[in-house]
Amino acid sequence: MSLIFKTPAEVRSFTQELHGKRLALVPTMGALHDGHLALMREGAKHADVVAATIFVNPTQFGPNEDLSKYPRDLDGDVAKCKSAGVLFVYAPDADTVYPKGFETYVNVENVAKRLEGEKRPGHFRGVATVVTKLLALFRPHVALFGEKDYQQLQVIKALARDLELGVEIVGIPTVREADGLAMSSRNAYLKGDERQRALALSKGLHAAQTANEVDAEKLKALIRAELQAADVREDYVEIVDADTLEPLSEVAGRSARALVAGFVGTTRLIDNVAL
Ligand code: AMP
Repeated sequence: MSLIFKTPAEVRSFTQELHGKRLALVPTMGALHDGHLALMREGAKHADVVAATIFVNPTQFGPNEDLSKYPRDLDGDVAKCKSAGVLFVYAPDADTVYPKGFETYVNVENVAKRLEGEKRPGHFRGVATVVTKLLALFRPHVALFGEKDYQQLQVIKALARDLELGVEIVGIPTVREADGLAMSSRNAYLKGDERQRALALSKGLHAAQTANEVDAEKLKALIRAELQAADVREDYVEIVDADTLEPLSEVAGRSARALVAGFVGTTRLIDNVAL
């Protein structure tokens, strides 16, 4: 049985008893899939004890986003955590994380500005705030995040560096379904032919990755062609520097990343690959 904690005091009294054992932290919003479990298994390679958090963080959702309908299954999630070697799960209520009078937020500047930051105002402020709180509470040696949310990973690396939190941030490659669709808790929203149409994101990215093309506009056109063919509405398609996330006009001679966000029906999905 994995332990389940609901309050910061319980977490603190537990982590204080670890006596120098290395601790890995895997923050999630629950509705766990194999991508999350890969983070937990990787955590076990970096530490003696792996902890996970399950918290649907209200401050990272916009007013018209899916906070109330976000999938929740705490019992199922705790069983999955246990199967992936997690020793304890922190699953606080929103009022515990954001009690009355809460007024301190973390803003990461440049790397959070464009892409998701532009399309989802306030999103990274919510992410950065909750991740900073979790890192401050757990004081882990290592924390693991997925490249699936590539910009989020860069935002978290920036805050850990700038706030000198003394934690190693480890990114792991995106875990995909057999046909290439990036695993996501939001895939559960896909109805009817949307599951098939959602493949346009990974297909377009794969086309860009294998095209032997350096011109960013031509790479973007390859991705857009797949989105259009599947009637997936583009939110953005960008070719960026892999570290700064600044847009590139060509990818030659530097590490670059292609990122895409699109709506399949009403479901917004994101994906990215290295170029
Ligand atoms: P979420 O529950 O969506 O907030 O995600 C929690 C963590 O799991 C984040 O670090 C995500 O980047 C990571 N993650 C989500 N989906 C995947 C995936 N398909 N492969 C790898 N990591 C993932």
